[in-house]
Amino acid sequence: MKIIMLGAPGAGKGTQAKMIADKYQVPHISTGDIFRANIKNGTELGVEAKKYMDQGLLVPDELTVKILLDRVAKDDCVNGYVLDGFPRTIPQAEVLDKALTELGDKIDYAINVDVPDENIIKRMGGRRACLSCGATYHMEHIPPKTEGTCDKCGQELVLRDDDKPETVKNRLDVYHKQTQPLIDFYSDKGVLKTVDGTVDMKEVFAAICAILG
Ligand SMILES: [Zn+2]
Repeated sequence: MKIIMLGAPGAGKGTQAKMIADKYQVPHISTGDIFRANIKNGTELGVEAKKYMDQGLLVPDELTVKILLDRVAKDDCVNGYVLDGFPRTIPQAEVLDKALTELGDKIDYAINVDVPDENIIKRMGGRRACLSCGATYHMEHIPPKTEGTCDKCGQELVLRDDDKPETVKNRLDVYHKQTQPLIDFYSDKGVLKTVDGTVDMKEVFAAICAILG
């Protein structure tokens, strides 16, 4: 089964992607990871991608899709894969779709983990991090033993800039502009499956398993 994960940043799609990969024994592929692997191993594609990145430019979609297709051609993908973080835009989805069609292949499921913005803003706002040892907490779900203090090293916990409501809202705006149109794109192809992402992650996963069988 070939799966794409859709959903806003903070909706929990990365967690679900890992759980799917574990249960269905397919690799969890994030484009960030395969870029790093190609660059580290100095592959031809990696060298090409690095040229753009060194200049602070975005890697062109065609090249990203080439790197992706190279990854999914590996033996461990024979039963499928879960793509996490790609495609993010309609042009990327079109390039991927064209490339897969040429291989006689296609995406089987686009799973949309649906969480309203206000839930995401609240969720992220509850996060706390220790800048000293890197431990992370959540005021509701994983609270530290003493409020505001790291269990592991006793340092003060902070709300990271990335988790502040203004930052989260900006990321959500970008998501609604660039990525949300993919929901229609995959719906038109008949592969979109939406699950309620506001419930406990185990329940979200159960809903996904009911779809995947
Ligand atoms: Zn700490």
